[in-house]
Amino acid sequence: MELGGRPVSYGVFSTAGGPPRLGARLGDRVVDLSAAGIFRATTLNPLMAAGPAVWREVFDQLADVDLEKHSHPVEGVRMHRPFDVADYADFYASVHHASNVGRIFRPHGAPLHENWRHLPIGYHGRAGTIVVSGTDVRRPAGPLGPGEFGPTRKLDFEAEVGFVVGVPSDGPVPIDAFADHVFGVCLVNDWSARDVQRWEATPLGPFLGKSFATSIGAWVVPLHALDLARVPAPAQDPVPSAYLRAAKPWALDLALEVRINGHLVSSPRFADMYWTADQQLAHLTVNGATLRTGDLFASGTVSGPAPDQRGCLLELTWDGRDPLTLPDGTTRTYLEDGDTVTVSATAPGGLSLGEVTGTIREAHS
Ligand code: CA
Repeated sequence: MELGGRPVSYGVFSTAGGPPRLGARLGDRVVDLSAAGIFRATTLNPLMAAGPAVWREVFDQLADVDLEKHSHPVEGVRMHRPFDVADYADFYASVHHASNVGRIFRPHGAPLHENWRHLPIGYHGRAGTIVVSGTDVRRPAGPLGPGEFGPTRKLDFEAEVGFVVGVPSDGPVPIDAFADHVFGVCLVNDWSARDVQRWEATPLGPFLGKSFATSIGAWVVPLHALDLARVPAPAQDPVPSAYLRAAKPWALDLALEVRINGHLVSSPRFADMYWTADQQLAHLTVNGATLRTGDLFASGTVSGPAPDQRGCLLELTWDGRDPLTLPDGTTRTYLEDGDTVTVSATAPGGLSLGEVTGTIREAHS
């Protein structure tokens, strides 16, 4: 979905001294939705809650905006967290990522757990530590093993795609009602402390190894803008339960790129994900769990079959066995203080999903 040849995404911005307000990004301009008389709010939540008919109306009204009067150059504005996050869940939907993690963490067992191909595995994360792109991330400390505590020595990123709920539900969301509830898509970096994670995660899953920070992109691309990116979903074997079978699955052809200090280290493709976002939303609610505006669920690390399509350092360096060499001659097994990780993505037709970036700061002393 483009407007005068320019793709659209939404965010919250401010200019010097001004309050945060909604903006629509058209190329290198940010339209002030409040000044243009289209929608007045300080987060995306009220717009997201208003539902698909209003989402379409807002989009249509953008065609008539006087850009001279009501927009700013994108490089001159400050971006804020685009929405108040209600709940946050993170899935584990790449068969390549899940298999590689299994091979690394359980070298003598089967790469995938028995349930993995039967349901979209996920965990509930921490909504309160979700930060907008550009926010520094402090190296976390935690339990690293028996009797061992300190700053993580295995700080990692996970390149992911997030889906933001607009319209609440009071019960299960049928899989084909996905687009009635989900407002749009943003990039996610699920920062991870692998030593903490490995020690704590049995038997109940990730806790301190993930909860210290999760970064999201400043721009949310509305779902209706991604029609062109829809592709056939990968075949699933065994055939999943009826509640996970869609008439037209939401597999998306997004090309991700991950950079450390500006250097490209991975190019995963979102189309390779085994479980799709509509299956994840149906699963998230099938037990009757209600949805709230601002609920965020992320895909899980996006990894493809090739070594240069792995979406985290755990896989890229095989837990440190195969260090990466950066152009300045230094090597990385995991992230060092001062490193900047940037995940960006594009969809067919040149639609940009923007980027999510963050720089590592030293641990609390
Ligand atoms: Ca994750």
